[in-house]
Amino acid sequence: MPESAHRRKLRILFASSEAVPFAKTGGLGDVAGSLPRALKHAGAKVAVILPKYGTIPEQYRSQMKHVADFYVPLSWRNVYCGIEKLELQGLDFYFVDNEQYFKRDGLYGYGDDGERFAFFSKAILEAIVKVPELACDVLHCNDWQTALCPVFLNEFYRGAPQCADIKTVMTVHNIKFQGQFGDNMLSDVLGLADIPAARDQLHGDGNSINFMKGGLCYADALTTVSPSYAYELQMPYYGEGLDGIFRRRSNNLTGILNGIDTTIWNPKTDALIVANYSSDDLSNKAECKRALQEELGLRQDPTRPLVVMVGRLTNQKGLGLVRYAMDGIMKRGVQVAILGTGDADQEEAFRYFDSRYGDMMCAKIMFDSDLSHRMYAGGDILLMPSEFEPCGLSQMIAMRYGTLPLVRETGGLRDSVIPYNKFTGEGTGFRFSNMNADEMADTLLGACEIFWTDPDLWKSLQVQAMGTDFSWKKAANQYMDVYHGLHPEVIRYNKRRD
Ligand code: ADP
Repeated sequence: MPESAHRRKLRILFASSEAVPFAKTGGLGDVAGSLPRALKHAGAKVAVILPKYGTIPEQYRSQMKHVADFYVPLSWRNVYCGIEKLELQGLDFYFVDNEQYFKRDGLYGYGDDGERFAFFSKAILEAIVKVPELACDVLHCNDWQTALCPVFLNEFYRGAPQCADIKTVMTVHNIKFQGQFGDNMLSDVLGLADIPAARDQLHGDGNSINFMKGGLCYADALTTVSPSYAYELQMPYYGEGLDGIFRRRSNNLTGILNGIDTTIWNPKTDALIVANYSSDDLSNKAECKRALQEELGLRQDPTRPLVVMVGRLTNQKGLGLVRYAMDGIMKRGVQVAILGTGDADQEEAFRYFDSRYGDMMCAKIMFDSDLSHRMYAGGDILLMPSEFEPCGLSQMIAMRYGTLPLVRETGGLRDSVIPYNKFTGEGTGFRFSNMNADEMADTLLGACEIFWTDPDLWKSLQVQAMGTDFSWKKAANQYMDVYHGLHPEVIRYNKRRD
């Protein structure tokens, strides 16, 4: 321990392009909505910073207070930046305001996304320098949208006393999205063209630059959202071209499994489901299933295993296997219900199955958070045959509702679902290993066999699944370990509690 060590709260600035309840397109939004609060409970002083999107609900926008404004240098530009603040349930959220960049109908998918998030990343550092309440020990960045923070910090801001001792953590939520843009941005937007180290480390394929790559090279510590994904990222199959960097930095890479919000997702108190239940008394789950079958126009038959899927309809989610196996599954009298939106061809395929299989298959091609609660509560099995899955939340939510997940052994699915072991009776779900539709269908029909023939075993698996601890507390303590590893001079404020 350094001589000057002292006990105080470590100050964490959590930078994210989305956070529930303000803006969400995927898992990152959920994480940024829950983890900072858990970090606060674990003994950190936490603030969250995100863009002030035009889509943030008015109820929050109207409560925001103006804190500061200044101009952010972006190569030859000087761009206006306002900082607004909102305290929500004891946690401080700061919003980077620039209407030209962020007052739009959506979060991403615009031609100038590179410039928008380069601005966001640089604005965060300017804000740390100019707004005293944003002083921090650790700047925690997430995915490509904030990956330039460590780059800008080291190349432009180390001289500022507010930034001299800041350490950076870069968390990868999904390596598929890296923020790749034309390399003209280096001079035109980032102002980094004359710095060889930055140029080299941001350089992507051909004439491109890669924001994520820059973040991975410059950040002090790297984390990702499950231990298995941390391992997989080092392999060419999963690393999406950056596996070499993950291998090189494997000593600084930690996999920490996400949690879920256990107050929102709780079958005992959930007001969005027709009847509440718990692992002590599961009887009302049958009513949830009946009501879901009714709502979805499925045959109201308790003897049919009801397989549900909730999620984005994209290739990542292994939907090719489901499409291939659908006929066989249907022939065995199993019901399938899907809630999701995504790629047009996937949506079309499941609409087709819906019309083809009448009251045995239902595809709801929409985003409906309320319905997702009823799907998790009413299903018997949640199918998630993902090709890759950094963490995955759906399988954890399903377990909480006693809906047994059937997953492919990858990433967070592997780390969160204990496969049924017929010798010990242990298990919280079912797993298969290869991207093979027959293997998936066999595992599914094996699970259905238990559903049909051994209700006591089924119930025991449900109880084990519901008893799993998916709260954020454990993850928060692991992040605290990472932060304190970067700042050994600060003694932990709260003793670690698991
Ligand atoms: P990813 O982050 O890859 O999209 P996750 O499983 O980590 O997948 O998180 C997805 C989250 O979004 C879950 O909370 C899931 O319930 C929710 N979700 C996804 N699609 C829908 C939808 N169509 N309607 C309601 N909720 C959805």
